[in-house]
Amino acid sequence: MGDGPTRLSILGATGSVGQSTLEVVNAAKRGAFQIKAITANNNVDVLAAAARTHDAEIAVVANPERYQDLKDALFGSETIVAAGPTGLDEAADRDVDCVMAAIVGAAGLRPALRAATRAKRLAIANKECLVIAGELFMQAMAASDTEIIPVDSEHAAVFQVINQRDPSTIERILLTASGGPFRTFTLEQLRAVRCEDALKHPNWSMGAKITVDSATMMNKGLELIEAQQLFGFDYDQFDAIIHPQSIIHCLVEFCDGSVVAQMAHPDMRTPIAQSLYWPSRQSDDIQKIDFKSLSELTFEPIDEQKFPAFRLACDAMRKGGPAPAVLNGANEAAVAAFLDRKIHFLDIATTVAKTMEKSEQMNLFGPATNIDEALEIDAEARKLAQDVMVTI
Ligand code: NAD
Ligand code: MG
Repeated sequence: MGDGPTRLSILGATGSVGQSTLEVVNAAKRGAFQIKAITANNNVDVLAAAARTHDAEIAVVANPERYQDLKDALFGSETIVAAGPTGLDEAADRDVDCVMAAIVGAAGLRPALRAATRAKRLAIANKECLVIAGELFMQAMAASDTEIIPVDSEHAAVFQVINQRDPSTIERILLTASGGPFRTFTLEQLRAVRCEDALKHPNWSMGAKITVDSATMMNKGLELIEAQQLFGFDYDQFDAIIHPQSIIHCLVEFCDGSVVAQMAHPDMRTPIAQSLYWPSRQSDDIQKIDFKSLSELTFEPIDEQKFPAFRLACDAMRKGGPAPAVLNGANEAAVAAFLDRKIHFLDIATTVAKTMEKSEQMNLFGPATNIDEALEIDAEARKLAQDVMVTI
């Protein structure tokens, strides 16, 4: 990104995307990156190890109770140690060329926004930010002149395909979905799904929340909202299709009938590297596609009867206003309850549906006019979801 090392902060450095980002950094030429801030929620051991390996300027644990543990783990190093919300602010306030926003869920919104307004470039993995407060977020990025490069694989794909094309020539943007572990299940089988089953994704290795979202197909719905916020276009120009091999990540249809696809082996290091090096590219030891051994690339529609979460997200996208934030808050609460073995798999979507219905019937929320209001809607939606949830 210019002369000298790229000064990089990683919010959520201990997670799946955070660790893959550090792998990309490790594979880079010596001195290509300088790690400024790294953060985690609880995992002080992994955070401290990363801070030592990369000589991070500051390491922050969000849970203030882990402050002393992190301090002990980094004893003798030059890394500054901080904790809690003020610590996250401190991390976000470092001057950097690029910030990787890889915290999961609404918890990442404030840190991502704060860090990104100071950074030259935002590499955004934390899709929930854009679902909860997409318009406000994008306005803030425009105001601070921050360049946004998507990290979510489908969005990284669309970004490449539409780069420097005339938007008026683009008719439709299709995101692909692997279909998750339960693509071929019947509704009856879905009723019996256990948490352990939902955590086994066929093609991608990811954090628990997004893995469950992929199993319910809420993830693809969140991604349509994310795409609309990132790229503009009307909501009805976006759609998703199941492609079980996860080789093609997007299909962009132009007005003359031409469709341009982006392909890559399913490995997050590819879109992460793109977000760090763009518009340049760097070679890595990532597996390339072996077309001779690819026997088939198939597509099928998403079954909204079996995966109602996808439809709920599409409805929220169409409605706009507070609906996507309510959807996301309810989903985060429901997924957390499922991971705690408190609700059944199918009750994730049921909880989201009931929360959305109730908030609309009671006319609880108007559109958020600032980030505090967006986070208030998120908090209220979680409470409402707890109320309507049918626990085991
Ligand atoms: P993860 O659960 O593996 O990691 C989440 C990170 O956020 C960890 O570092 C964790 O310590 C931190 N964190 C969690 N709660 C926090 C809190 N309350 N305060 C501060 N930090 C907190 O998640 P992930 O799979 O790496 O996903 C991160 C984001 O990237 C998500 O929004 C996800 O949708 C998106 N994403 C992930 C992938 C993937 O392959 N994992 C792909 C595309 C998009
Ligand atoms: Mg994705």
